[in-house]
Amino acid sequence: MKDHKRTSFEYVKGAVSEELQRAAEHWTPQHALSWAFEKFGNRVAISSAFGAEGMVIIDMASRICPDFRLFTVDTEFLFPETYKLMDRIEERYGVTIERAYSLLSPEEQERTHGDALWTRDPDLCCNLRKVEPLRRKLGELDAWITSIRRDQTAARSDARRIEWDTKFNLVKINPIVDWTSKQVWRYIHDHDVPYNELHNQDYPSIGCTHCTRAVRPGEDPRAGRWPGFAKTECGLHVIEPAPVIAEATASDIAECGV
Ligand code: SF4
Repeated sequence: MKDHKRTSFEYVKGAVSEELQRAAEHWTPQHALSWAFEKFGNRVAISSAFGAEGMVIIDMASRICPDFRLFTVDTEFLFPETYKLMDRIEERYGVTIERAYSLLSPEEQERTHGDALWTRDPDLCCNLRKVEPLRRKLGELDAWITSIRRDQTAARSDARRIEWDTKFNLVKINPIVDWTSKQVWRYIHDHDVPYNELHNQDYPSIGCTHCTRAVRPGEDPRAGRWPGFAKTECGLHVIEPAPVIAEATASDIAECGV
């Protein structure tokens, strides 16, 4: 892969131009992925927990840039079905999933913070097992690609297709930010994309075993996450106001940059 330098990017560290953000809103997901691979080379990676949306991004990326980087934050509390899907992804797409772990093993967490922390303080548990490992992983990168959609949660409703991530200080690319769940599933079926078998058992959103349940008819698709708590986000995709710069060259789309 090319190792792109920061000076070649059409952004200034700490901001993404408003012009570029506006232009990107009209891009297809494939265009956004191509742009990311061209601009950032091996300094961009897809982050995925292997939900339906993530599978769409992985499949699209494989058709644009076959040796794309893919990582996950493995809380060590994932469903067996999720680990099985990870094996299938590595086999089908020929990638090695990079795994980011908490500094604390589940046993160390229990010794330090007590039994079943997720039942008492899920924010702390998510910080230890998701946010901190993600922050460390993103420290290796100049940009990350996510599969968030605006209509998933209130916190995601203002997400842009390309934006500066003020929480983690790098460029964030959300190729299917304006897609609906219906579009996601149409892509999966049209392209025979593998997906987590729990989706067929009323789990539209899948996280850790301790904090995910099946949803009942009529419930919000994310009602099965952190049941009993007001929490809807693990803290990875909280949008904060980002500075903008008045400069962009959004027209340059190219083939895979590796
Ligand atoms: S989803 Fe639950 S078990 Fe997983 S890290 Fe967050 S609080 Fe802990």
